Amino acid sequence: MDYIHDTLSGLRATSPAQSEFYQAAEEVLECLRPLLQSNPRYHEHSIIERMVEPERQIMFRVCWVDDHGRVQINKGYRVQFNSALGPYKGGLRFHPSVNASIIKFLGFEQIFKNALTGLPIGGGKGGSNFDPKGKSDGEIMRFCQAFMTELYRHIGPTRDVPAGDIGVGAREIGYLYGQYKRITARYEGILTGKSLNWGGSLGRKEATGYGAVYFAQNMLAARKEDLRSKTCLVSGAGNVAIYTIEKLYQLGAKPITCSDSGGTIHDPRGINLETLKRLKEVERAPLTKYAEQHAESTYIPKGDYPDDGHAVWRVKADAAFPCATQNELTLSDAKALTHNGVYCVSEGANMPSTADAANHFIASKIAYGPGKAANAGGVATSQLEMAQNSSMEQWSLEKVDAKLQAIMANIHQSCATTAEEFNEPHNLVLGANIAGFRKVADAMIEQGVC
Ligand code: NDP
Repeated sequence: MDYIHDTLSGLRATSPAQSEFYQAAEEVLECLRPLLQSNPRYHEHSIIERMVEPERQIMFRVCWVDDHGRVQINKGYRVQFNSALGPYKGGLRFHPSVNASIIKFLGFEQIFKNALTGLPIGGGKGGSNFDPKGKSDGEIMRFCQAFMTELYRHIGPTRDVPAGDIGVGAREIGYLYGQYKRITARYEGILTGKSLNWGGSLGRKEATGYGAVYFAQNMLAARKEDLRSKTCLVSGAGNVAIYTIEKLYQLGAKPITCSDSGGTIHDPRGINLETLKRLKEVERAPLTKYAEQHAESTYIPKGDYPDDGHAVWRVKADAAFPCATQNELTLSDAKALTHNGVYCVSEGANMPSTADAANHFIASKIAYGPGKAANAGGVATSQLEMAQNSSMEQWSLEKVDAKLQAIMANIHQSCATTAEEFNEPHNLVLGANIAGFRKVADAMIEQGVC
């Protein structure tokens, strides 16, 4: 269809050199073909062209002083992509790889993810090329304060509510929040992922990982299967990976891998969660330390496989949970997974599979849950945190977890029924993209040209 082709070409011409963003846009738009053919009104209202263009992109300089008294400069970003369904919502990523393309791809994905939750939240994302690794607490605090000194004027509890992502956890959210309060003299829910002492929600820390496992549970239940006694591969060793591993154990599965930017741990007896939490949440240490403390495990440094292959995906297992970063699972990894017997892939990270790898999973008809559906539990629970903040309540963990489980079941249902409606019952990528798009597109049409 020319409409899709023309929109993608226009995007390349007007937003040059944004490969991750094109990848995300192409995946969504290609899935929309059958919907656009049967519903010309989306074309008549120029919805696709409007949707790929952020409502607002804010880029700013972040100046801060390091421990040696030197002035350091980083780039700051906030992309407010789409507010058709509610205030912009999406995390902040602090990582040296951050650039405009990565923030735009994440913000674009967030639009559809947030729509799938059924909650009133629009899509946004932000971050910086700041590298928290190796920085002192004081440096992290001064960077966060400098970042918020610009960001504060663009956010608000009914306007834009950022959260964490790679490199932004409870510590960074605390420093960011403190600076917002200092500048504005207001105590309000402008960030989620806050500490439990001052406005955070029980269950938010665990929500993305738990949600990815609940999504896998739903995919498997539809095939009359479950996770009990299943051997699982998990990548990453951060927030999402840790709570994916925790929930897998709670459901009787055995997670045997995790990874960080240095390499992979394979522990055939099952990843020791206590050690992993201590190393990554407390000591902020590399996974080499895990191997030193667990003689039965193997550490495989990054870069051992040809074709961009990754060790974590070369181990025999039943299910896989990519929870590190974008494009961490290539076509050769995907082939290795299905060859080794993996029949369920639930993405905790955003766009962790390359386009070729995702197409391989779809063609193989395995249970494949794309990130925008499978990892939506994090943002959904962030919205539950916003609801608690605005009503000045604190809900119990049981209540939050019950809501999370219901939301993940609904997301799965909505992806599965939409996939069926378009005659591709196994294709939850198509189901997620069309179901999310339809909700946002209809709201945009109802709200007129804006
Ligand atoms: P963390 O910063 O807590 O952990 C990220 C993990 O991935 C770390 O183990 C890190 O290794 C590893 N990693 C990061 N970049 C790379 C890279 N380029 N190559 C190899 N490994 C890498 O982040 P989160 O767990 O919060 O986020 C993980 C993924 O989940 C991201 O894609 C994020 O967008 C997505 N996500 C997160 C949500 C949340 O609520 N936190 C919500 C929805 C999605 P190292 O320790 O060496 O840095």
